[in-house]
Amino acid sequence: MSISGKCLCGAVSYTCSIPPVFSGNCHCNDCKKTSGSGYATAMFFPEDSVSISGEVKYFESKGSSGKMVKRGFCPTCGSQMFGIPEVMPDMLAIRAGSLENLSDYEPQMDIYTSHSTVWDVMAEGLPKFPEMPPQD
Ligand SMILES: [Zn+2]
Ligand SMILES: [Zn+2]
Repeated sequence: MSISGKCLCGAVSYTCSIPPVFSGNCHCNDCKKTSGSGYATAMFFPEDSVSISGEVKYFESKGSSGKMVKRGFCPTCGSQMFGIPEVMPDMLAIRAGSLENLSDYEPQMDIYTSHSTVWDVMAEGLPKFPEMPPQD
């Protein structure tokens, strides 16, 4: 499997040749703010498996986990592209809306569902976690 994607203006693009380690929809408040929607999509890859070209600007804030999250976006068109959560070292999240082939995204779970809004819509078949899934 190989995935690729780019921002709205095309200045930032990426490729990755391995499947995501996991993926899901995050309903936390910061994902609502940055996506302008009810949740954000995230496909998680080992950071060194993703090749990014173009200038990415990162904004860092404290996430619902209490740990810092860096969110990467295109400084020209503002498209949200990447997430680097301190809680998962060496992992990079890619926003599925930026994919070249949108059907490459297969969400496996909903997380931070305790933060979801009344107008949020979730797929019934996916496991739901009120916050982060339990880590082993
Ligand atoms: Zn752009
Ligand atoms: Zn989130």
